Amino acid sequence: MRSNADETIAAIATPLGEGGLGVIRVSGPQAVAIVRAVFRDRRGRSVERFPSHRVRFGSIIDSSTGAKVDEVLVTYMQAPRSYTCEDVVEISGHGGMGVLSRLLQVLVSAGARLAEPGEFTKRAFLNGRLDLAQAEAVIDLIHAQTDASQRVAVEQLEGKLSQLITAQREELLEVLAYVEGAMEFPEEDLELLPWETLLGKVREVEARMLALLETFQTGRVLREGLQVVIVGRPNVGKSSLFNALLAANRAIVTPIPGTTRDVLEETMNLGGYPVRLVDTAGIRTTHDVVEQEGVRRSRATLDSADLVLLVLDRSEPLTPADAEVMAAVRGKRVQVVLNKADLRSALADEELDARLPRWPRALVSCKAHGGLERLAQAMLAVILGGQQAPREGALLTKLRHWEALHQARERLRLAREGLVQHRSGEFIALDLREALEWLGEIVGLNYTEDLLDKIFSEFCIGK
Ligand code: GDP
Repeated sequence: MRSNADETIAAIATPLGEGGLGVIRVSGPQAVAIVRAVFRDRRGRSVERFPSHRVRFGSIIDSSTGAKVDEVLVTYMQAPRSYTCEDVVEISGHGGMGVLSRLLQVLVSAGARLAEPGEFTKRAFLNGRLDLAQAEAVIDLIHAQTDASQRVAVEQLEGKLSQLITAQREELLEVLAYVEGAMEFPEEDLELLPWETLLGKVREVEARMLALLETFQTGRVLREGLQVVIVGRPNVGKSSLFNALLAANRAIVTPIPGTTRDVLEETMNLGGYPVRLVDTAGIRTTHDVVEQEGVRRSRATLDSADLVLLVLDRSEPLTPADAEVMAAVRGKRVQVVLNKADLRSALADEELDARLPRWPRALVSCKAHGGLERLAQAMLAVILGGQQAPREGALLTKLRHWEALHQARERLRLAREGLVQHRSGEFIALDLREALEWLGEIVGLNYTEDLLDKIFSEFCIGK
């Protein structure tokens, strides 16, 4: 990704499609000059001065033809009081693809370059307005599908995780200073060094790291969500269950349902956790080619499932088709759903015990809306893996952060052992410095261009 701060970049910042408004963002040293060249006030005159943080009404003109492109509101945010810490101009026009792409073209003709994905946020990071963990939270916030995911992302954007990491770094820097001091003056009696105090500090930091590492299970699910796949032979009530669960647990944002021929997917909000619920067509062998494709896709969905809801019709004896589905989900994490509890049972507990070993079972009636809350609780328990979801404090939501923290903790463990064994200060200092480096990687104190590319390429253009 190029990132020349001398260049002024521009991009459409709102979603592609039709809307009341569409916003174009321009950032860089030439932002004002570029906009000035194409902006006219309500009387058609050029405008010399754009006061910072004020809105101006006018039009954008295509200077090659003199034609008006759109009526717009223009907001100038003078550096460094802007998203990127550079001069930024936001142009609000009408939200149509034709209008916005013309506006963008006019700006590019006037000297702006099209922004790369995530380049605005990358500049905010490079200019020190956000640290790396905060920059990463921008994309999480945009992707958040439930209230809880949104809260975690906005807290990370505010710097909750960064502050915790920075505080631990400061503690370790203090310890390192002592240890290095001892190395510099070896003639002084090492016993005079407050080993116990240092050890206590290291232990405290290590404990905080471990506690943070443990939040990853829930943090990751809050950010990424989980996939829950409903399987069962035809007519057991899969679609009914799919609809009943969704009706009771609507996500804030429901993406356009992925209605392929055989797989139906929607996002539900399960206690704040975004859960992608997938209804598969029957998983069974078939000789029909089209059907086979559907079955293949169902199996692929099953492979990526975090949890499988195996639906059985309790009002009928188990059939060979049920057995086939059971065989297909063996080895997966399964929650059995005994549906049609409103009807007379044809399945004795003993038979279920014998044929469904170890899988937890929930009795529901999709028709009478019974047992769904308990099923949702059972699903939540699986998602949390027996852990209580932390409601307060910093959460680890990204594998990158987990890995770096894990590495930092490993180095800190070595440093602690070194202190306990009164090993040479050199070794202890080395481990401490490595731990510090790993912690620094989370907030971006040290980074590689590759890492930045990887992080910001996940963004859309305009962010
Ligand atoms: P699928 O083929 O597994 O998706 O099953 P459907 O959801 O289409 O349901 C099959 C039939 O069972 C439909 O006629 C539903 O109305 C009925 N059904 C679903 N859930 C229940 C239930 O809890 N009780 C009763 N009595 N019927 C149900």
